[in-house]
Amino acid sequence: MKKISVIVLLAMMFYLPLRAQDISYVKKVIDTLTSSSMHGRGYVNKGDRIASAFIRNEFKNDSLKYFATNYLQTFKLPVGSLPGKVNVAIDAKNLTPAVDYLVGASSPTTSGTYNIVRIDSQTICNTKCFNKILKSKNSNNFILIDKKGISDKTILATLKDVETKNTLSAKGIIVVEDKLVWGAEDALEPSTVVNITLKRSSMPAVMKTITVDIEQDFQSAHEFANVVGYIKGTTKPDSFIVFTAHYDHLGQMGADAYFPGANDNASGTAMVLDLAKYYAKNKPDYSIAFMTFTGEELGLVGSQYYANHPLFPLSKIRFLVNLDMVGTGDDGIKVVNGAVINKEFNILTKINDEKKYLPSVNKRGEAAISDHYFFYAKGVKAFFIYTLGGIGEYHNIYDKASTLPLTKYDGLFKLMIDFVKALNE
Ligand SMILES: [Zn+2]
Repeated sequence: MKKISVIVLLAMMFYLPLRAQDISYVKKVIDTLTSSSMHGRGYVNKGDRIASAFIRNEFKNDSLKYFATNYLQTFKLPVGSLPGKVNVAIDAKNLTPAVDYLVGASSPTTSGTYNIVRIDSQTICNTKCFNKILKSKNSNNFILIDKKGISDKTILATLKDVETKNTLSAKGIIVVEDKLVWGAEDALEPSTVVNITLKRSSMPAVMKTITVDIEQDFQSAHEFANVVGYIKGTTKPDSFIVFTAHYDHLGQMGADAYFPGANDNASGTAMVLDLAKYYAKNKPDYSIAFMTFTGEELGLVGSQYYANHPLFPLSKIRFLVNLDMVGTGDDGIKVVNGAVINKEFNILTKINDEKKYLPSVNKRGEAAISDHYFFYAKGVKAFFIYTLGGIGEYHNIYDKASTLPLTKYDGLFKLMIDFVKALNE
């Protein structure tokens, strides 16, 4: 009895403060990555490189090794961004950026007042009036597309072409949506048409003209950087477990609106740094590499570059776990590739059944939706794990550190430690 209480006391003294310490570290990392000084970790004010410098310093503090001459793996690509003015007014009434509307990062610098041509279920009264709209090609028009209430497949396909191919040769396209979800996939190529998403609840009843003042910057060769470090294994140094997460996010939309990306993916980056800190103190059997990627939001360009230019042979990777959006967990986790890599998925579920770290561990098939993908496509065994339930802020200005619950962060962290241990058995 006495012995047990001593053990309990020791556990309380050492274990609890250790984890409490680590959670405060995780929160510090997320607060730092999501702060306005990182500009949303995109391509305005070099937010991406401020973030990569921060991660590099964390790796350095934990005495991680690097493969090449330092922790950074750099490459160049073109990228567009909106560093300056992003003003939109409809009939002279100013709208609020990122609250009422979004502007695509590849939209060209544009200033002026333009006519709005509405295409919605009202104006498409019949084939005749739809055809009339389709003839109204004018480079001084903004075409507003509201698909609500339109189910005709031919009309929808035509609208898709108007939207994506600018078949009406307009100055700009406005698409009406219920929710604003920004993306950066289009930022690699400059566009000749202004792309605006307008929130339905912010849409005035009458809309005749739009006034825009947009400053775009297109860098023809932006230097991107993946940040990669590792800890040498004690008994299996030639075989690697790899933890990955993308640290980039969407950046800024104009001088004022920035996208913090707390869940996406300061959360996964923080877990990779937290794991690095843990294994720096608790030397692993396998070597463990920690890779934080850039350019995920542009279409996985950082991890794709790495997979095409690996710093050690991909064949040496025993297993890779990619963490992207791990800040919730009320409903457990989803494991992409869990349905195709059965042996390792069973290891995960067995640990969780015993230890009850998470409410559930769910599997999913292959999906090219995050940084595990180009490794998996080259034959590396890889999972992509994300948490389920809780807040649903995604690709908007409300994905903030202050509201990120980290509900099952600790459970997932412990599951990862046990998983690495089990892979060694
Ligand atoms: Zn994202």
